[in-house]
Amino acid sequence: MSKDELDISNLHWVLQILQNIEVGLVVFDRDYEVKVWNGFMENHSGISSVAAKDKNLFKLLPTLPKSWFEYKVESVLKLGIQAHCNWQQEPHILNFENTRPFTAKSDLMFQNVTLFPLFSTDKKINHICALVYDVSDEANNLLKLKTISQTDALTQLFNRGHWQNMFEQEFLRCQRYDDTASVVMMDIDHFKAVNDTYGHQLGDKAIQLIAKIILDSQRETDICGRYGGEEFVILLPHTSVNEGVLVAERLREKVENTLLPLGKEHNNEKLQLTISAGVAEFSDEFSTAENWLEKADAALYKSKENGRNQVAK
Ligand code: GH3
Ligand code: MG
Ligand code: MG
Repeated sequence: MSKDELDISNLHWVLQILQNIEVGLVVFDRDYEVKVWNGFMENHSGISSVAAKDKNLFKLLPTLPKSWFEYKVESVLKLGIQAHCNWQQEPHILNFENTRPFTAKSDLMFQNVTLFPLFSTDKKINHICALVYDVSDEANNLLKLKTISQTDALTQLFNRGHWQNMFEQEFLRCQRYDDTASVVMMDIDHFKAVNDTYGHQLGDKAIQLIAKIILDSQRETDICGRYGGEEFVILLPHTSVNEGVLVAERLREKVENTLLPLGKEHNNEKLQLTISAGVAEFSDEFSTAENWLEKADAALYKSKENGRNQVAK
């Protein structure tokens, strides 16, 4: 083989490799006209390279965030350096389906994208190359870990730390936007007796049962957490104290009407549990989020004092 023939066959290989790698490769010019569209792009977009050739990138990928992407491209053109787009800033730059949807939290592919300038022989930048990496596994694992770190293992409610963060954010939101919200604090009545009579395991089952009632009743915007052992909290955005009392009252009733099966050791008997609740609405007189929660706690104390299995504000 002559040297020229060898160069051509090497080039042929390179093209095959680029066509087949599990990375998206797109080359486009300053007018966003596509010049190269490899196999990865064909497979995930359903658009063949022939169909993509000379078409406008934004027409081919209508969900690509245009002004944000143009801004990134501008910086590559101006500075002649690479730009990176991370899935954490923009999770689904290209609206491709995840090819592993059964193990994933999201049905869409998460991507990292790298943009870099292509210099022509006259050292001008007339084209940009975009490399698209499928980082769905990494993203889904990280999202799963994040969910685990925010969730109480026994009940699947938010854990105290995460709930507290959301509560503090809501406090600031109410302060800033002069909006309102209410918080409900709930505590199982005479729970020590449940543990003492039936043991800790059944105690845990009682906590799980009440958490399930809370989870099943929650509206999309409600933020429900396990605050402590057998204490629960619900943050209700855009909700007045009287509406909050209604929410708490419905839960109190459901708990009262749902019996906990005690199992064979206790002759398959069923136990009635009750909860007490306190509700407090946001006020601009509170200087911290803690003041708000203290008010709900004081209302809860009132419920306990007045005989339990009731709601106070
Ligand atoms: P009150 O009606 O005044 O609320 O009476 P109480 O007996 O429920 O009193 P309190 O709320 O102080 O009781 C909390 C008890 O909850 C004490 C603790 O042993 C129990 N507890 C806390 N966390 C857990 C848990 O995760 N599992 C179980 N089984 N018990 C727990
Ligand atoms: Mg308690
Ligand atoms: Mg209690």
